[in-house]
Amino acid sequence: MSTIISHHFGNPQAIDIGWYQSQGGYKALEGALKKDPSHLIETVKASGLRGRGGAGFPTGLKWSFVPQNTGKPIYMCVNADEGEPGTFKDREILTWDPHLLIEGMIISCFALRSNVSYIYIRGEYRYEASRFEQALKQAKEKGFVGKNILGSGFDLDIHVHMGAGAYICGEETSLLNSLEGKRGYPRLKPPFPAVEGLFQCPTIVNNVETLANIPFIVSQGPEAFRKFGTEKAPGTRLFAISGHVSKPGVYERNIDINLLSLIEEAGGMLGGKKLKAVIPGGASSAVLKADECNIAMDFDSLAAAGSMGGSGAVIVMDETTCMVRALRILTDFFAHESCGQCTPCREGSAWIAKVIRRVEAGQGTSAELDMLFDITDNMKGKTVCVFSDATAAPVESFITKFRSEFEAKVKTSSVAVEGGRVLGSQKILPTVV
Ligand code: SF4
Repeated sequence: MSTIISHHFGNPQAIDIGWYQSQGGYKALEGALKKDPSHLIETVKASGLRGRGGAGFPTGLKWSFVPQNTGKPIYMCVNADEGEPGTFKDREILTWDPHLLIEGMIISCFALRSNVSYIYIRGEYRYEASRFEQALKQAKEKGFVGKNILGSGFDLDIHVHMGAGAYICGEETSLLNSLEGKRGYPRLKPPFPAVEGLFQCPTIVNNVETLANIPFIVSQGPEAFRKFGTEKAPGTRLFAISGHVSKPGVYERNIDINLLSLIEEAGGMLGGKKLKAVIPGGASSAVLKADECNIAMDFDSLAAAGSMGGSGAVIVMDETTCMVRALRILTDFFAHESCGQCTPCREGSAWIAKVIRRVEAGQGTSAELDMLFDITDNMKGKTVCVFSDATAAPVESFITKFRSEFEAKVKTSSVAVEGGRVLGSQKILPTVV
């Protein structure tokens, strides 16, 4: 299939702005600067592009929420804080085609009438950040970034900001607090960032892959974009495939590709083993059993199956995988990364991780497995951000779908649970409030 984003991946020439221009690069920008900004927002709306960071919210609609008459500056922030286990697609864009991202950023800023943009890059992505900065320097020298871009009268500054390793700073309001120099705590919404974001000004936060689609949409038109994917979710996706496949990596495919076909395109199952389960959209998406994997990968099909497209991270597990251990790795991650602001999330994520560790060590009980569902019930929909819900989803799906594996690990003696305390257990657990 033809691609929208990944055609320069693996090509060392793409970092050079001269080569990028020789392939038609920055032509979409030249065309966009001759249009009315509100026309560009309508074009992105018509394309049906949905955010590729996790939530899948329509990008053009989000842009249209920005008030243009407040007298305050408007900020465009790029979320490159890619930190969820299994998610490594934006890294490829930053590494191989940073000019595509920069062109998308400039067009988006022009559409939003924003003169300042920040890109917030994951702290561990030092190399990727250096590639982006190299490309940004070239774009400034060529007059694509700075004052009076291509004689249009439009000015734009782009600033690079490195994260410090906190996963929660990939949550958009936490990212804004971090940019302001504050602790990376998510904010209560409303107000939403489009109205009151960075420095209390209207702000759009978009994912790297989302913005990398903009040059294509603007230059080729919404209908060309809609030739890919589905009516409700047009376009392609960068799927980051890891785990037990022969050729793990990043694959750009139609957003509605069948999951089993995607695994085949990634070389099929490693060593010819049988498929056992797939996490289809990053660590916070519900796991699918092998018999649920004959499914399209678009947002709506996965949501209908009780999971989600999330960040496009596909983690494939074969028949040898211990699902208790797999869940323990995920719950350790979430317990470590909770920002601690909300009691249900802070206590719940730590408590879940402790219990799963005990289960893995053969010290848990069947009653504790049931108790985990009480904990997750207390975590969902009750906190400042959706991290808490994201922690609950894998716990519930792993235990529900692979209960017999968890039962096989727990102690055979039955132990009662009373008032949040596991009687007969060596450890007394805290009560969830
Ligand atoms: Fe922090 Fe968790 Fe509350 Fe989100 S839900 S604000 S990560 S404590």
